[in-house]
Amino acid sequence: MLSSPQVWKEFFETYYRDELNRLADAVEYGGERSLYVDFLKDLSIYREGRLGEELLSFPDRVLSHARDGLALTENIHDVNLEGCEVRFFNLPTSRRVLIRDLRSEHIARFLAIEGIVRKVTEVRPRVVTAAFACSKCGKVVYVQQEDENVLKQPYECPACKNKRFIFLPEESTTVDSQRIRIQEYPENLRGGEQPQQIDVMLEGDLTGKVNPGDRVIINGIVRAKPRKAGAKQLQHMDLHIEGNSIEVLEQEYEEFEITEEDKKRILELAEDERIYDKIVASIAPSIYGHEDIKLAIALQLFGGVPKKLPDGTEIRGDIHVLLVGDPGVAKSQILRYVHRIAPRSVYTTGKGTTTAGLTATATRDEFDGRWTLEAGALVLADKGIALVDEIDKMRSEDRSALHEAMEQQTVSVAKAGINAVLRARCALLGAANPKYGRFDRYTPIAEQIDLSPTLLSRFDLIFVLTDDPDEVRDRKLAEHILKTHEIGEKFEKLRNIASAEYTKEELTRESEIAEIVPAIEPELLRKYIAYAKRTVFPVLSEEAKERIMDFYLSLRSRAKENSAVPVTARQLEALIRLAEASARLRLSDVIEREDVERVIGIIRHSLEQIAVDPETGEIDIDYAFTGTSKSQRDRIFILKRIIEELEASYEKGAPEEEILRAAEEEGIEPAKTRELLRKMKEVGDIYSPRDGYYRLAVK
Ligand code: ADP
Ligand code: MG
Repeated sequence: MLSSPQVWKEFFETYYRDELNRLADAVEYGGERSLYVDFLKDLSIYREGRLGEELLSFPDRVLSHARDGLALTENIHDVNLEGCEVRFFNLPTSRRVLIRDLRSEHIARFLAIEGIVRKVTEVRPRVVTAAFACSKCGKVVYVQQEDENVLKQPYECPACKNKRFIFLPEESTTVDSQRIRIQEYPENLRGGEQPQQIDVMLEGDLTGKVNPGDRVIINGIVRAKPRKAGAKQLQHMDLHIEGNSIEVLEQEYEEFEITEEDKKRILELAEDERIYDKIVASIAPSIYGHEDIKLAIALQLFGGVPKKLPDGTEIRGDIHVLLVGDPGVAKSQILRYVHRIAPRSVYTTGKGTTTAGLTATATRDEFDGRWTLEAGALVLADKGIALVDEIDKMRSEDRSALHEAMEQQTVSVAKAGINAVLRARCALLGAANPKYGRFDRYTPIAEQIDLSPTLLSRFDLIFVLTDDPDEVRDRKLAEHILKTHEIGEKFEKLRNIASAEYTKEELTRESEIAEIVPAIEPELLRKYIAYAKRTVFPVLSEEAKERIMDFYLSLRSRAKENSAVPVTARQLEALIRLAEASARLRLSDVIEREDVERVIGIIRHSLEQIAVDPETGEIDIDYAFTGTSKSQRDRIFILKRIIEELEASYEKGAPEEEILRAAEEEGIEPAKTRELLRKMKEVGDIYSPRDGYYRLAVK
């Protein structure tokens, strides 16, 4: 073996002279205690790379040589570097192993794994050398601890043979320690695969450096430990990594490469005047219809432009979309498809399969009782898209966290020893089922799904998918589904029985004619989206601004004095974001009037579904989100006045019959009045001192 403390001393003094002096300076003032060595740049060329090879194959011995070698080096401050760590980063990519590919051959080797941080424990001291006092004679005994959970005691007192001891925490030496869990990137998983995870032990100045949601490369040694069944050790082992260094990847890091050939195809596509239709036809082609929703999802995939304003305010570019609707209208199917094509997407259901649910939670670790911060779907989808099915069924903790996650794009956790703000810069595509089974056009959406008005108003677009019988549409849908299944059956037959009567080529052509193959294959579409997000930053043109202004003001102007506000500034921002996405989709640097027209079309459609007050036929955002329309509010106003007047003349409160009569005189049907009284009572505007009598709660 080449490696020895002497060789390392020579290596450090040749390549790391300045760093040694800097480290010595830091050590003297109680700072950083690690020397960082660039593997590819320096170690791999030193002595034909032999020292580097030895490190990778025999890390325990070689690391100890490196530490000893470091202690032998000289520096201008004359500081002893004993006890300092040597950390290696920038390993060759050939030494990067996927978590799912870790095997026996990797045990005790030095390698790099890459992934997203899912969980971190709080940083706590771990005992390295434990001091014990003999309970009889008081002799102090020191015991070197292993990387185990349980504190190792001395067997007996060397002086008096007694076997009972008292642990002396303050006489013991400790090191900061933290356990983190790394999970494979969501984008590397083929549809439906569960991500694999591995634990990483961190010590000293490596602790407290990463947060859940961070994308990292961990360089370290693979360790194996037998599993345990009670006190027994089993033959099967669990793997973990002993971290030597962490590289936190830049946020803009992009996982797939776009070649010149790809770029050519992308630019060609962008020139195609049917590009919008083509992309729509590439999203869930096996699902018939729903073109408006597919266009909205297409815009969501491209996203608006996230901006930081001169005053420091950050505005999200991510577009949030909610699909609400009857059971069996392909909501889940659409979400699953988007999961397959969207870069960096995370799919989950509101009920959640992990403890962290949608956002993030702090829990006590079942293994060592440490507080642990775990990232949920929205944090793991940072810089991507979170697909949340049955979002109406999410837990109450997630509900409150979602407000912050959707607008500020952060998730704050403050509990016990954990205090963190995690990033969740993702777009959200949610699906929800109506509370009472089926969607009812005549009841406001806010009353029909289990999501609060404030949460609903954070979605840029809400679509309602109803399953109303319609002969023409039903026939077309059935034909489409039958054709899809027929072709699927034929493909299966061909795959399983050699003597089938058609060729693969014929079937592929048949699928193309039936439009159940994506117009743009998923891989190219992913690259197209990534390319657009990376390189296109469109700016509003004068015409686009004017058109947005006109549309916004026309909606606002429908509001008369003391009336519902049809559109709020939130919708204006949604409009801008969607227009940005529309320009991005065709790789345009300018947001044109056509982008705004396209988006107005989608927004109109969405508003018509959710925000038309059935009594007046007018678009009314308040009706959608609060369930109270302008016409209803006017009537409530009248009823309150009537009750107030009656209360003055009746000692027991305003009698229901009198209210009904007075209201009818002002044009409110008795049935409506009864319904409103019930609602007002529900929300606490009025109360019944006794059956059939009402009083105003607040005057
Ligand atoms: P949801 O989540 O809305 O309850 P699913 O996504 O589970 O519904 O869809 C139920 C089934 O009906 C799926 O197999 C889906 O493919 C099929 N389906 C529903 N609507 C359509 C459609 N428009 N085109 C093709 N298949 C459809
Ligand atoms: Mg479903």
